[in-house]
Amino acid sequence: MGIFERDTDIYRDRDALREDYQPEELVGRDEELRAYQTALQPVINAEQPNNIFLYGKTGVGKTAATRYLLSHLKEDVKQYEDIDFNLVFLNCDGLISSYQIATRLVNELRDDSNQISTTGYPRSSVYEMLWEELDELGGTVLVVLDEVDHVQDDSILYQLPRARANGNLSSTKIGIIGISNDFSFRDDLSPKVKSSLCEQEIHFPAYDADDLQKILTQRATVAFYDDVLDDAVIPLCAAYGAKDAGDARQSIDLLMKTGDIARDDNSEIVTEEHVERGRRNLERGRIEEGINGLTQHGHLVLYALLTLDLEQETPVRSRDIRPRYSLFAERAGRDPLVPRRMRDHLSELAMLGLISVTERNEGRRGGTYREYDMDMSPELILSALDDVLNDVGVHESVKQHLISDTESEETTALTDFS
Ligand code: ADP
Ligand code: MG
Repeated sequence: MGIFERDTDIYRDRDALREDYQPEELVGRDEELRAYQTALQPVINAEQPNNIFLYGKTGVGKTAATRYLLSHLKEDVKQYEDIDFNLVFLNCDGLISSYQIATRLVNELRDDSNQISTTGYPRSSVYEMLWEELDELGGTVLVVLDEVDHVQDDSILYQLPRARANGNLSSTKIGIIGISNDFSFRDDLSPKVKSSLCEQEIHFPAYDADDLQKILTQRATVAFYDDVLDDAVIPLCAAYGAKDAGDARQSIDLLMKTGDIARDDNSEIVTEEHVERGRRNLERGRIEEGINGLTQHGHLVLYALLTLDLEQETPVRSRDIRPRYSLFAERAGRDPLVPRRMRDHLSELAMLGLISVTERNEGRRGGTYREYDMDMSPELILSALDDVLNDVGVHESVKQHLISDTESEETTALTDFS
């Protein structure tokens, strides 16, 4: 007898909730799509294309809108015989220099037998190769640089849009579409790059709860069977999404986690309670990921603040965290960091949203100081701090918060703190 059996009572097509799914239509982005379409119009007119710069936080539909419009553009140019249209799409995640981008572009444009290695050429000769490949294409070429904020030097962002003006291209008309998740990236561009790359700027604002409901409803219709979602599920996922960051990706992830939990429950319908559990589950994942990425001193600082919080000593200033932190560091066999470096760790924890920080005024003397507090549940933090609990020992204040399910059996073996 087999051990696997199909269980698709809930999902019609779960893949529609995955990251790589491209919806047929985008909902609630009419204004942005109109601006974007207008900016792309010169391509259809066989004119020199605009350079376009899209920006907005992650998950607000920048990549989806680009794929959507460019796939239509690619289709629609076919009716005009005088346009030879080519598209190069590059995601810059993992690429940090103009050099790397240029080599990747050369390789995208060359066939497999003719690839260049990603190191060893002078930059100027990689650019030469790039101009050669681009000019050989002829016609109109759009180069999309998605997540371009990963690139740390802006040489390519200057060179590509100006390739024709600088005489590097003669037959090809080139347009660049830069997409950035990071607002400061745009502000930090040098004026000469900004003026050529950001000819047409389109801002994608965060989604509100209404937008997210529309997006989730569209996706749910594909992903779930009719009538399996309780009426409250989508509004609740949308409300959480709007509260967090207005990020459609996060909301869709939550809907998928919710569906998975309902399925694991062998439930025939998906309820609000599944959303709550899904949210806790994802939150836990985010916290663990954040904590795992810290150094040991980061863990020690967090553990120190957590114990003070459980003793009702928070909000607390960094100088009052210091004795506890130093004690823990010594117990873990490490030299405590100087106060300044310890404060850097507090800032990092705050940036990750693991702790909160409030700026206060010093009173008559002027000046300000910062107070730190915990706002995550101690159980969540503790389960991710396993290692440091091992090194330091279990502090009295956290004992009652150690989760006693099978998952954390090891914690019972930890040394007591005395
Ligand atoms: P960004 O590139 O801005 O980080 P994406 O375009 O990747 O965001 O969008 C994140 C997810 O949300 C994708 O799965 C995308 O299909 C979906 N999405 C975003 N905006 C919309 C929309 N307006 N309509 C439908 N789906 C959307
Ligand atoms: Mg994107």
